[in-house]
Amino acid sequence: MQFEKVLIANRGEIALRIHRACREMGIRTVAVHSTADNDAMHVRLADEAVCIGPPSAKESYLNKAAILSAATITGADAIHPGYGFLSENADFAEMVEDHGFTFIGPTPEHIRMMGDKITAKQAALSVGLPCVPGSEGAIVSEEHALSTAADIGYPVLIKATAGGGGKGMKVARNADELREAWSMARNEAQAAFGNPDVYMEKYLQKPRHIEMQILADNFGNVVHLGERDCSLQRRHQKVLEEAPSPALNAQQREQIGRTASQAIHKLGYRNAGTIEFLFEDGHFYFIEMNTRLQVEHPITEGITGIDLVREQIRIAQGAPLGYTQDDVKFQGHAIECRVNAEDPETFIPSPGRIGDYHAPGGLGVRVDSALYAGYRIPPNYDSMIAKLIVTGNTRNEALMRLKRALGEYVIGGVKTTLPLHLRLIQEQDFVNGDYDIHWLEKLVAGKN
Ligand code: ADP
Repeated sequence: MQFEKVLIANRGEIALRIHRACREMGIRTVAVHSTADNDAMHVRLADEAVCIGPPSAKESYLNKAAILSAATITGADAIHPGYGFLSENADFAEMVEDHGFTFIGPTPEHIRMMGDKITAKQAALSVGLPCVPGSEGAIVSEEHALSTAADIGYPVLIKATAGGGGKGMKVARNADELREAWSMARNEAQAAFGNPDVYMEKYLQKPRHIEMQILADNFGNVVHLGERDCSLQRRHQKVLEEAPSPALNAQQREQIGRTASQAIHKLGYRNAGTIEFLFEDGHFYFIEMNTRLQVEHPITEGITGIDLVREQIRIAQGAPLGYTQDDVKFQGHAIECRVNAEDPETFIPSPGRIGDYHAPGGLGVRVDSALYAGYRIPPNYDSMIAKLIVTGNTRNEALMRLKRALGEYVIGGVKTTLPLHLRLIQEQDFVNGDYDIHWLEKLVAGKN
């Protein structure tokens, strides 16, 4: 089946990203938007646009009925959810299919399985993925928390079963801290996800976050597109990502790629997905799987030349992958900086009107952003406003290019995290590739 029209159930840079892939495939696009986004670039570029509600995401970008109505009135064939919002909502994926549209992503069953971190870990274990030592299922009481922690050893991490975006995670170094962490994590999980269930993992002291990008079609063909190193994080949220990881040798890379592909094959998973691992002392530990396109997908595109959104659409149309693992060639190095409209020191969001705007360019430089001069960033959504991606033949070339491109980037009128990136890429540890998931937090706190 060939799609003629795709509805993009998202906003910002990712809505543009999907629109661009559709355009290049000759597919018409429908943008949906809230009233806060009347002037947004995704609305301007799409072939058609439908307003689906007021600024609050709950009433617009999370409004399943309004999005399905928009698909119906515009006669769309398929819906691409992007990332965030409804992208990992199994009920939405099911409704999309029930209404006769194609959901550009995995099956609702796989989304559901991986959306609950406990069933995700069980599934991972069942297909041979190593997991972080931890509780077998949910932690049901304070006593249960204390006895589990005694078994696995402190420090431990309490995590929300329904977690995402680094929310609802609490570290405990002893029993007293655990009593507090357990109830705080439950409250936070209830507030953020409407589900108070938590589980426990050993808290790793110096891991790197390494994730594998996977593509799978409907015919059992699976390839991996290499790893991304996303260890530079603040509050468990990614800030800068690179591919390949400076921490892996060829044998480790080969091993984790093969393991991840086999797991995906056994799960019968289809479309794009990412398996996230922590990597410490030469060992990989599964932490979760994301059943959608990731923010940081462009660095994988940078080292493979494969357009991930195009592949997602092709797979959803029922096409076979058409290439094997051996056909996937890795070339050079890619780095992505997430630019947020935030104060670079306090990280307080800084929405508002963009003044001057000048995006960097040149060989090996890509900017994925929906910004333009005069655009007003609404206060209602995520503060990420741009992604700067560079590629180079070597990591060093990519680093020099990134420094050059960051220096050219002008985003006037609001505070951004560009200065943080400029600072971080000049740090010797970063230049050496010598960092773990706690490194950036310490840099920001002045403790490195
Ligand atoms: P979320 O879905 O909220 O993003 P993840 O399970 O993906 O949660 O974890 C996010 C980040 O939290 C990881 O990249 C890592 O930095 C940190 N983290 C998660 N689990 C552990 C652990 N067991 N030990 C140490 N850090 C962890």
